[in-house]
Amino acid sequence: MQELEERILTEGVIRPGNVLKVDGFINHQCDVDLFDRMGAEWARLFAGRPVDKILTIEASGIALASIAALHFGRVPVVFARKSVGKNLDGDLYHAVVHSYTHGVDNNVIVERRLLNPGENVILIDDFLANGAAIRGLLEICDQAKVNVQGIGIAVEKGFQTGGHDLRAMGYDVQSLAIVQEMDADTGTIRFA
Ligand code: 5GP
Repeated sequence: MQELEERILTEGVIRPGNVLKVDGFINHQCDVDLFDRMGAEWARLFAGRPVDKILTIEASGIALASIAALHFGRVPVVFARKSVGKNLDGDLYHAVVHSYTHGVDNNVIVERRLLNPGENVILIDDFLANGAAIRGLLEICDQAKVNVQGIGIAVEKGFQTGGHDLRAMGYDVQSLAIVQEMDADTGTIRFA
């Protein structure tokens, strides 16, 4: 998606550890007009698929998924939470996800009543690096016996393994921008 690539080129900042910061429009401030067009693009890419729900992971996935949901028939958005809060009762689906940006393992949970066997689900997240976050969501989808109709990613870092691995597993991964190379010294970013 050219508009997203241009925003990354003009506003993205490369941080140590191959972290691309896009705080100005995705991770700390949300450009909802851009999100609206990203949602439309995912809806186009996944056209014809049955979608009952969108599943994402807190925090940055929530806004993206919510605006995208408007383009998928205003379906509910379920977001996996990163720890068990006091207000969560009942049985939970659960996975352990290693955080790429924070370097810690998080317990990721979804209440069982929010995902029902046989439902059709699209996964959405902001970044795809090594794939741990999405694999955690897939584990939850597996426990819930829902059908994963596709995986929508805003920014895939194509030089890391997540996208390749998920596609090799047979998932339809649609990334709106794929960063193929980024150089912290020169600030250069090259897209696939
Ligand atoms: P993965 O689990 O695929 O290794 O990493 C994806 C998760 O880590 C995303 O949910 C995102 O929050 C975070 N992440 C990974 N790489 C980056 C990055 O370069 N920039 C930002 N802002 N987040 C990233």
